[in-house]
Amino acid sequence: MAQRGTLFIVSSPSGAGKSSLLAALLGSPANADGRMKLSVSHTTRAMRPGEENGVHYHFVDQAGFKALIARDAFFEWAEVFGNFYGTSRETIEQSLAQGIDIFLDIDWQGARQIRALMPEARSLFILPPSLPVLEQRLHGRGQDSAEVIAGRMAKAVDEMSHYDEYDYLLVNDDFATTLAQLQAVVLAERTTLAKQQIQHAELLRALLAK
Ligand code: 5GP
Repeated sequence: MAQRGTLFIVSSPSGAGKSSLLAALLGSPANADGRMKLSVSHTTRAMRPGEENGVHYHFVDQAGFKALIARDAFFEWAEVFGNFYGTSRETIEQSLAQGIDIFLDIDWQGARQIRALMPEARSLFILPPSLPVLEQRLHGRGQDSAEVIAGRMAKAVDEMSHYDEYDYLLVNDDFATTLAQLQAVVLAERTTLAKQQIQHAELLRALLAK
């Protein structure tokens, strides 16, 4: 029997480098077999330049989002910065059953809901190395107004106050180091006793036959 995939929850304040780290992880040799996938959330927020529908998010309007809630289509959903965000239940279930490790880029509210529903999920929190670096990274995007950035800095502190609810804590100072830590967490989770007992059931029977 194949291993069931692991659900990884990844949270951080905007600008801590979470999206770049996840993209690098999925494109790295550690994912040569394609067993890691990013969950694409639904959102009601406006599309940013460079974003693609169905790739970064499934962009829907408020009525569409509410219809999905009514159909129980979301594994979790939350209101973040005045917009709605939700994780599709079907995509998650299908991926995990196929042995795929699925990564959810969600906020602390979503993380809490997932932990309650799926205690075996693993969660990681990514911190920036300092507040000035975080602010610099938010400016660096060049996509949001100064007012939006100031608002996100305030929200960042609120998001970061939940760091101790997570299983793993990463400080994204040097990108390559943080990426290596992320890879280590994923590979370690694949070798836990519970997972390996399922993956290698036949081998274990053969080795311990006598
Ligand atoms: P952004 O609009 O910058 O892409 O994301 C804003 C925040 O919403 C981030 O903290 C991100 O992790 C969170 N988020 C994105 N998708 C989901 C989701 O499906 N559920 C929840 N709870 N949060 C999400």
